Amino acid sequence: MKEIFKKAVPVLAKLEQAGFEAYFVGGSVRDTLLERDVADIDIATSAFPEEVKQVFMRTFDTGIEHGTVSVLEAGEIYEITTFRTEGTYADFRRPDEVVFIRSLEKDLERRDFTMNAIAMGLDGRFIDPFDGQKDMMNKQIRAVGEPWERFHEDALRMMRGVRFVSQLGFSLERRTYEAMQQNITLLKNIAIERITVEFVKLMRGEAVKVALPLIIELDMLPYLPGFANQGEAIHSLSVWNLAAICDDETMWLTVTLAVKPDNVISFLRAWKLPTKLIRAVAKAYDLADKQEWSDYELFATGMHTVELIEKARFIRAGETDWIALKLRFESLPVQSRREINVSGDDVMKWTGKKGGPWLKELLAKLDQAVIELKVKNTQADIKGWVEHVIDEST
Ligand code: ATP
Ligand code: MG
Repeated sequence: MKEIFKKAVPVLAKLEQAGFEAYFVGGSVRDTLLERDVADIDIATSAFPEEVKQVFMRTFDTGIEHGTVSVLEAGEIYEITTFRTEGTYADFRRPDEVVFIRSLEKDLERRDFTMNAIAMGLDGRFIDPFDGQKDMMNKQIRAVGEPWERFHEDALRMMRGVRFVSQLGFSLERRTYEAMQQNITLLKNIAIERITVEFVKLMRGEAVKVALPLIIELDMLPYLPGFANQGEAIHSLSVWNLAAICDDETMWLTVTLAVKPDNVISFLRAWKLPTKLIRAVAKAYDLADKQEWSDYELFATGMHTVELIEKARFIRAGETDWIALKLRFESLPVQSRREINVSGDDVMKWTGKKGGPWLKELLAKLDQAVIELKVKNTQADIKGWVEHVIDEST
C-alpha cells in the first residue's frame, strides 16, 4: 500500500471498529492502479454523516448535505463521504437530492466511469463490480451502466470523459463515445464553473493533442465559452507544444492566443476565471507579439508579464528570449517603482502643487530617466532633476 494510503489507515480502522464499512474510492484508487501520482484520497463509508461525527474528535461539515464530513486525523484532513445514491435528475445536471445508503455497490453504481468505480479496503483488496481494472488494462473509458442514461443524469460526465482521455491517454469505449455524440447538446445545461474545472485539467493532460481534436469531433465547441466556430483555432492550439504549460496564467494566455477573441476580457470572464488571472492574461495578451524591448519597456511591463509572454512564445513557436530578457531586467538600476527613492508625495512637497495627471506623467518620466541612467536614484539628484524638468515645462 502506498504511503498516502497507509497514513489514512487509522481513519478507515476507526470507522470499522465502530461497526461501519469504509473504503478508499475514486481517483486515488484509479491512479494507484495506474501507478500514477495520488494527490488526495477520498474515503467512502456506510456511516451516515452524524455517525461519522461521533467516531472522530475533530470534524467539519464541509459538504454535509451531500454526505461529506471532513475529519482531522494525525494532522491531516480527510474527506469522508457517506455511501449514497443520487435521487432523480430533473435537468441533466446534478441530482435533486442525495439519499444516504449502507451499500457500497449502490454507491459505486452512481459513479461516472468504471475506472472511477473501484473501492479499496483496508486489507488492500479491490472491490470492482464493473470491471474497471479490465477497462484500464485495455485503456478504455467506459461509463458505468447505460452511457446514454448516465449522460442524461449529469451531462458534465461527457466533459469529464474527454478530460480523462487527455490525462490518461485512454480512448472512449465505443458505446460511451456514441452516447456522447448523441447527447452532446445536453452540455448546455451545465454550469460554466464545472466545465472550466474539467477544461483546465484537460489542457494539462499528457494526451491533450488527442483530446482537443476529440472536442471538435464530438461537436463540443458550442458549449465551451468563446469556442463556437473556432474549430481551426482549437486545431492549431492542439499542435502547439502544450506540454510546456506549467501554470494557469500561461495556459489561458495560450488558449486566448489561439482563439483571438474580439474582447479578451469578456472571453476570459465567460469562463468565470478569477479577476487577478484575467488581468494578468489580458495584459500579456496585448504585448504577446512584441519582439524588441527597450530597458524602460521591460521595467514598465514588469518581469512577471514578460515571462508569461515568453513562455507563451515558446509554446507557440518553440523559441524564446527569456533568459536574455531576464538577465537584462536584473541588470536594470531598479526593478520596480518601489525602489525609486522618491515618491509622488515628495514631488508634491517640493513643488507645492496638488496631485493630478501631470504628476503621473512626471513620475513615469522619472522612472524612464532612472532606468536610462540619466539621473541617479538619490533624493538629492532626483530633486534637481524634477526642478529642471518643471522649469523646462513652464
Ligand atoms: P481527480 O484525480 O482529478 O480528482 P477524480 O476521478 O478523483 O479525478 P473527482 O471530481 O475528485 O474526480 O471525483 C471523485 C470521484 O467521484 C470520481 O472518481 C467518481 O467516482 C465520482 N464522480 C465525480 N464526479 C462525478 C460525476 N459527475 N458523476 C458521477 N460520478 C462522479
Ligand atoms: Mg479526486
